[in-house]
Amino acid sequence: MSPHHITPAPRRDPSRRGAAVAFVVATTLMMAVVPALSALDVTIDGRKTRLPAGATADSVMSEGIMVATAGDFVDVTGEPLIKGAGDPAELLRDGTRLRAQDRLFEGDELTSQNGADIVEDTSVLTTTIPAPVQYEGEGPLEEVETTGTPGVEKRVVGAISRKTLSTRIVRQPSPMVVRRSSPRRTDKVVALTFDDGPWPGQTELILEILEKEDIKATFFMIGMWAKKYPAIARKVAEAGHQIGNHSYSHRNLAAARNGTLEREISFGQKAVRRATGVNPTWFRAPGGNMSSTAAKEVRAAGLRIVTWSVDPQDWRKPKPGPLARKVIREVEPGSVILLHDGGGDRSATIRALPWIIHNLQREGYDFVTLDELRKKQK
Ligand SMILES: [Zn+2]
Repeated sequence: MSPHHITPAPRRDPSRRGAAVAFVVATTLMMAVVPALSALDVTIDGRKTRLPAGATADSVMSEGIMVATAGDFVDVTGEPLIKGAGDPAELLRDGTRLRAQDRLFEGDELTSQNGADIVEDTSVLTTTIPAPVQYEGEGPLEEVETTGTPGVEKRVVGAISRKTLSTRIVRQPSPMVVRRSSPRRTDKVVALTFDDGPWPGQTELILEILEKEDIKATFFMIGMWAKKYPAIARKVAEAGHQIGNHSYSHRNLAAARNGTLEREISFGQKAVRRATGVNPTWFRAPGGNMSSTAAKEVRAAGLRIVTWSVDPQDWRKPKPGPLARKVIREVEPGSVILLHDGGGDRSATIRALPWIIHNLQREGYDFVTLDELRKKQK
């Protein structure tokens, strides 16, 4: 080894030494401190929860850790239309609402609060209140005395649900007064009426009986059946019986809206007129159910309204004996007897009919049409 070659003693680099120290310190710190920095203990709705360090209110809200839920989109009565589509749930610290980006701190005590519901918009509807019908007197003949006036109401309704939130009556309706009366009770006359036809196989049999007994009755036809069976309808008219309008399709007129009322009354009238060649002058509502609006339509069509005074409820299909006996027992001078030639099996009615006729004739009764019965009124 040459003395010239002096190998200098290795020198420690001060910067490298610093790095080593820093490494040791950092490692020590990491072991002790990092676990604490990577987690955050908070209480949410009374439950201790560990969150990652640096958690914000948003991470709690979006992870469903809170008890509270978002509000709903609701209708005016509070029923949800879309669940969860209301305001979001809120997170509070010391009663103060946190924004999504607010940081959470170790030991925070947080509570959640349900989001508010969002209520649908409302709109105001102005509707008419039909005049109620007030009946005075008793009997099968009905005459409108005063037509009454409809009322007006304003309703606040849900724009989507159409449910009513509140109602305010702007004008009270005044009633339609209908006077009920009976034909004069001194003459021994009764009117037989047959509803719900024409009905193939039944109407003809009734016509045969009436012809044999030489009796005229009144037939309240349903427009759609008259249209379907015009030959039977015409046969009734040609036999000299009175023809009445019993609506187009036998709807409950008390519950019908304007469009339906018009169809039931005027279409019914037209269909019966076309089939029979006779313009009906009498109207009987299905089930006898009328409203003031329906009564106005009927009057405008030039029809008289009649119900009945003897009803053996033949549509319940009693046996011919009880059916006939009930009619015979209840009849008095001026009675309007309700029977059916259509609407179902009327074999009991057909079998009871001669029995009814013979018994009443024996008691001295004459059978008349409604027009003839009405003349007896005067
Ligand atoms: Zn009927």
